[in-house]
Amino acid sequence: MALIVQKYGGTSVADLERIRNVAKRIVGAYDQGNDVVVILSAMAGITDSLIDMAQQVTHYPEKRELDVLLATGEQTTAALLAMTLNAMGYRAQSLLGFQAEVVTDCTFGNARIMDIGATRIKELVSSRTIVVIAGFQGCDVNGNITTLGRGGSDTSAVAIAAAIKADICEIYTDVNGVYTTDPNICSAARKIDRISYEEMLEMASLGAKVLQIRSVEFAKKYNVVVHVRSSFTEEEGTMVVNEDKSMERLVVSSVTVNKKEARITLIKVPDQPGIAARIFSPIAEAGINVDMIIQNRHSGKFNDLTFTVPTPDFEKAMELAREIAADIHAEDVLGDTNIAKVSVIGVGMKNHSGVATRMFSALAAKSINILMISTSEIRISCVIAEEYAELAVRTLHAAFGLDKS
Ligand code: ADP
Ligand code: ASP
Ligand code: MG
Repeated sequence: MALIVQKYGGTSVADLERIRNVAKRIVGAYDQGNDVVVILSAMAGITDSLIDMAQQVTHYPEKRELDVLLATGEQTTAALLAMTLNAMGYRAQSLLGFQAEVVTDCTFGNARIMDIGATRIKELVSSRTIVVIAGFQGCDVNGNITTLGRGGSDTSAVAIAAAIKADICEIYTDVNGVYTTDPNICSAARKIDRISYEEMLEMASLGAKVLQIRSVEFAKKYNVVVHVRSSFTEEEGTMVVNEDKSMERLVVSSVTVNKKEARITLIKVPDQPGIAARIFSPIAEAGINVDMIIQNRHSGKFNDLTFTVPTPDFEKAMELAREIAADIHAEDVLGDTNIAKVSVIGVGMKNHSGVATRMFSALAAKSINILMISTSEIRISCVIAEEYAELAVRTLHAAFGLDKS
């Protein structure tokens, strides 16, 4: 008998038929004597269509109101699943984020979980009720509804699992686990049986959307064992756990791609102390996360400065960049949203040289031009034109010997 948290993603609850299938799976675990707490996403595509609807009303919807709107996606599935379980003769109750006491900071659209009270969850569990919680949403200290950023129901699940000290957190999705690269891009991708929190963190931060990055941070911090698996099969998936000696330390163990970044270049920036701070302070103050930064000599006492930002922040960042450029007398500002960042990741990279050369040669062999490069101890990333993203992923997966035989 165990306390199990199960999270079902959008494709797993895409319609009433799938919600019934999910209910059967939950009941299967419950009937074996386990206590089950379920976290749900909105039906596939619903969050996107709610965002579209808001955009039709106004280009810059009030962030508070947008969160009120987006939270309805998860409210719908939670109610429908609880009803389905009730109709099957099981005691089940839905809880919204605030009822589950998911307390967040006040950053609408990208809130961080500060605390989870979970008294009500625990009470319901102790009366053998199946608890169905709307993921992706919380509540700030002022009682406002907040959402946790795209893919945030993974984080709701892991954080709730930590708060109620669940034995395991199962993440049910539309693939059989975590693969060496996105299996929907590369059919030669291999399923990974066990992966360390560190490596999963790196993959998530570089674009492998199978787990939201903050969910992995929570899992690592609170030692939550996460099992990523498919809601459509019975197959074992991937265990995300602490690193152990049995894990292979491959030089390159996975390849990721992120198409959700955009590039901004300031041309002919005066080469003076303090200029970088003047450029990036207003961008940071606007809450925009800058990823890569590259500065090249333009000519004379001038530089060109290029950086990347998340695509949803592109327009705001361009607006700020134009204001800054006028202020510091830079010549021009260029923007490009058609880029992708491909990365190779591996903890074994720490003690190996030549990985970067191999990556650059593989891309060159397919005539893929590299626009920007960045490296860390355990990964190398290249920004390329978006149209080559899939080709680059397949090329690198093969070049580093990751293709399944
Ligand atoms: P859910 O709606 O269940 O949360 P997501 O779409 O957020 O599902 O995440 C699952 C998707 O993540 C898969 O369909 C797959 O395309 C993508 N993905 C990207 N990289 C990987 C990877 N390395 N392993 C598995 N899936 C990946
Ligand atoms: N429904 C939200 C999204 O589409 C949260 C999630 O699915 O995890 O981003
Ligand atoms: Mg997801």
